[in-house]
Amino acid sequence: MDGFTDASPQEVLERVSVELGCSPISQEVAAYLDKHDQLQHLRKQFLVPKVSDLPPTDLSLVDGAEDCIYFVGNSLGLQPKLVKKYIDEELDKWAKTGVHGHVEGARPWAWAENNIEDMMANIVGAKVEEVALMNGLTVNLHLLLLSFYKPTAKRHKILIEDKAFPSDHYAVESQIRLRGYAPQQSMLLMKARAGEETLRTEDILDTIEREGDSIAVVLFSGVQYYTGQLFDMATITAAGQRKGCFVGFDCAHAVGNAELRLHDWGVDFACWCSYKYLNSGAGGLAGAFIHEKHAHTVKPVLLGWWGHNLKTRFVMNNEMDLIPGIGGYRLSNQPILLVCSLQASLEVFNQTSMRALRQKSILLTGYLEYLITHYYTKDEANPKKPFVRIISPSNPQERGCQLSLSFSVPIRAVFRELEKRGVACDMREPNVLRIAPVPLYNSFSDVHRFISLLGSALAASSELPQGVKP
Ligand SMILES: *Cc1c(COP(=O)(O)O)cnc(C)c1O
Repeated sequence: MDGFTDASPQEVLERVSVELGCSPISQEVAAYLDKHDQLQHLRKQFLVPKVSDLPPTDLSLVDGAEDCIYFVGNSLGLQPKLVKKYIDEELDKWAKTGVHGHVEGARPWAWAENNIEDMMANIVGAKVEEVALMNGLTVNLHLLLLSFYKPTAKRHKILIEDKAFPSDHYAVESQIRLRGYAPQQSMLLMKARAGEETLRTEDILDTIEREGDSIAVVLFSGVQYYTGQLFDMATITAAGQRKGCFVGFDCAHAVGNAELRLHDWGVDFACWCSYKYLNSGAGGLAGAFIHEKHAHTVKPVLLGWWGHNLKTRFVMNNEMDLIPGIGGYRLSNQPILLVCSLQASLEVFNQTSMRALRQKSILLTGYLEYLITHYYTKDEANPKKPFVRIISPSNPQERGCQLSLSFSVPIRAVFRELEKRGVACDMREPNVLRIAPVPLYNSFSDVHRFISLLGSALAASSELPQGVKP
């Protein structure tokens, strides 16, 4: 969106509405923004489910032939159209040539994942030698912690968010126990201030400053899965390392969503899954990063043949020639079908840049925020009117594409009514909806339609006779 680069989303919306001579909440604004969206062609590379194909849809309420509003790419990204072609190619190769597929064709199974690691490295801001595609996210987190978490009596803690994703919480807990320490003493949970939902960077830095001498590893998410908060990874990394800690990030919700500079920030290690914003399909091949500064000093604790130098891997003489850095952490040969789906998605990313995606994302999510604030700010004069509080930070630099919405009314019925109308989103008890407009395939019209459907859903789910209907 040229010419808009320095303006806030609100300024852009107001400027466009003046130009069009309509209100900023008008559908015309969405249509205009879609027309001028230089990334809009990318949506065509994905399979967008139809409203009629989503199981909860009620066809008496909506047109089933329309594309659904898919705002749940933070949980499972859409399928790139090329996935099927690539998987079919490998199935055919297997059928026709059997074991020869290991070394033949466009994707020799024995090193197929190596061919897509450069695209992956680009997305996380790393050198290709700093990235490996392997396993699942939690497995990779464990493998990395085995190397980076070497507790001593003096330095035995892991600093992690209080409400980290359960798998990360369990991984950290079990790693602490594995080393003979007790989570009660060694797991340091970073809590938000009373009455606040997100963590303040100043509080994170204070904790690191105060407790740093006893912290072995600082482990944060890049983007928090529940609140959508984007952490200041560069600042946290520098602060942790100043105190002698290793600093790692779980980038599950940050990869493909925020601009990452893992190398430049000097992050020690990171891991991520690929089925959320990276669209590789459920259980897709996960990623891991170790900074090149550790390539010859930090070693894998557990070894497998896939960590062996590729040139001599198949000589099979049982003398390990370990790949330096993260490459040496590979254990097994990679599942080729998962390489196919991830390749299809990374090729879409490769047609643009994270900078361009992020630029669209800030406006797209800012547009959602603008409309929600317009319709659903608490109205003191009308206390019965449902209102929405946005938990995610209001500063676009402190969030990714997701907005976490907390409702003044019970959320379950609202969620069900949205689902009946062809909206795919995500509910977290007790009262949060997570809404993720993804810049790769969502449009400004999706956001506008969502707001209109939210009005109907609130009206339908509310006992109030006069529902709010934008
Ligand atoms: C999605 C997610 C996971 C899931 O872990 P898997 O090993 O891929 O099942 C873990 N941690 C975070 C922060 C996540 O967002």
